[in-house]
Amino acid sequence: MKSSSSYNEHRDRNFSHNDRREPVEEVQVEVGQRFPLTIKRLGINGEGIGYYKRKITFVPGALPDEVVVVEVTHVAAHFLNASLRQVREASPHRVEPHDAKAGEVGGFELEHLAYPQQLEFKRDVIQQSLERYKPRGWQHFTLKPTIGMENPYHYRNKAQFQVRQLEDGTIIAGLYKEGTHDLVDLPEAGTQNEATLTVIRELVKMLGELEVPIYDEEHGSGIIKTLVTRSSEATGEVQVTFVTNSKKLPRKRQLLELIKKRLPQVVSVMQNVNPGKTSLVWGDETVKLTGQDYITEELLGHKFQLSPRAFLQLNPKQTTKLYQEAIKALGLTRANRLVDAYSGVGTIGLTLADKLGEVRGMDTIPEAIDDANRNAALNDIDNAEYFTGTAESLLPQWVANGWRPDALVVDPPRAGLDETMIDTILQVRPEKFVYISCNPSTLAKDLVELGEAYRVDYIQSIDMFPQTARVEAVVKLSRR
Ligand code: SAH
Repeated sequence: MKSSSSYNEHRDRNFSHNDRREPVEEVQVEVGQRFPLTIKRLGINGEGIGYYKRKITFVPGALPDEVVVVEVTHVAAHFLNASLRQVREASPHRVEPHDAKAGEVGGFELEHLAYPQQLEFKRDVIQQSLERYKPRGWQHFTLKPTIGMENPYHYRNKAQFQVRQLEDGTIIAGLYKEGTHDLVDLPEAGTQNEATLTVIRELVKMLGELEVPIYDEEHGSGIIKTLVTRSSEATGEVQVTFVTNSKKLPRKRQLLELIKKRLPQVVSVMQNVNPGKTSLVWGDETVKLTGQDYITEELLGHKFQLSPRAFLQLNPKQTTKLYQEAIKALGLTRANRLVDAYSGVGTIGLTLADKLGEVRGMDTIPEAIDDANRNAALNDIDNAEYFTGTAESLLPQWVANGWRPDALVVDPPRAGLDETMIDTILQVRPEKFVYISCNPSTLAKDLVELGEAYRVDYIQSIDMFPQTARVEAVVKLSRR
């Protein structure tokens, strides 16, 4: 067959000499072009991956083993982006998404994939990252099957929805279409819990009734930019935060009265001031409008008060499992001093404090640290203390001052561990070490360096974000 022999010629020309970086022979392709494609696997963002004349092609919404028709949306030197136009041969694991808006906004990348296969994907993504970075001994790592949810919907305890007013006066609240500022109204969102959505919809109604000015991005006018609701699984309490374009909040009194009357579950109403055009959702200043400063959540028998800015895991049911896995992996029997690094409101360290001599933790958000220290008191814990600052600056200081931990939990953001943090860990070498990761790429990369002193006993993935491509894992490490 002619095409296959010319294919082989290409291959020989490009790969006969050992330069893997040499670009694939220029593929003539343009934006808008359509062609059929067979999908080979899912990439780390949950998108289908196929090869168009050997050029890697990313197709959101396509599944492995499918034959699809795609339309090219972006041509780059080493890859193509394409949109899914038609599924000619569907995967047996393709399911009808629950959400009409799925695919339009972020957060539903895998809703068209059956849940057991979503769980497999999450383990596979970790495998792919290990293959890419090859930390020492990676071929022998144990990757346990992902721990999923019984009902993988309605789990998110927080909604952070942008608000806009359409030309006909309608107020909408939801999320942006990926990579744009086109807001998609989300009266329903299968991943949100009911409390967060009910309150947002009611607030939108109130804003309309009271004609509170809604932020207008184009003119920089108006007030209400974002509505944030967070609910407590244990107590049912809801906290509302209005993110506003100025300190002024017109019709504040009437708004608070309506909330009191119609939304008794709302126990805390806050305002965060974030003036002007900015890509950040939150501004620096948060003030209380009415009620409490916090809502209270319970995890593993401990109470946690949460202020608006403080991080809390978004899936309460899975958080319990995540922490149980972290505790199991830490296997504390003799540990004396634990560091709860990237602590948020101290959930991990405080849950473990009664098994330890002393707990120290740190986080960069001062409000989270205030919450953590207050939460220690709230739970009658007197051997835990939390500090504001970066893990990479505080841990070396503590060690320099003679305070050496023998147990360490790190739970960094997507960027993974800072270089100084890794160096400090390699220097201190705590006996017990658990790495909780929300990004397999940075995890695999960090494990390359950590491999000098630690081996990986196992990696346990836990599905914190069903229907999305996000992956969370607990890694048990042992000192070599
Ligand atoms: N362990 C907590 C929070 C994990 S999220 C929990 O399970 O709830 C990661 C946290 O790291 C966030 O609270 C963020 O504010 C914090 N953070 C980000 N960069 C940091 C750094 N360099 N040092 C310490 N904390 C950091």
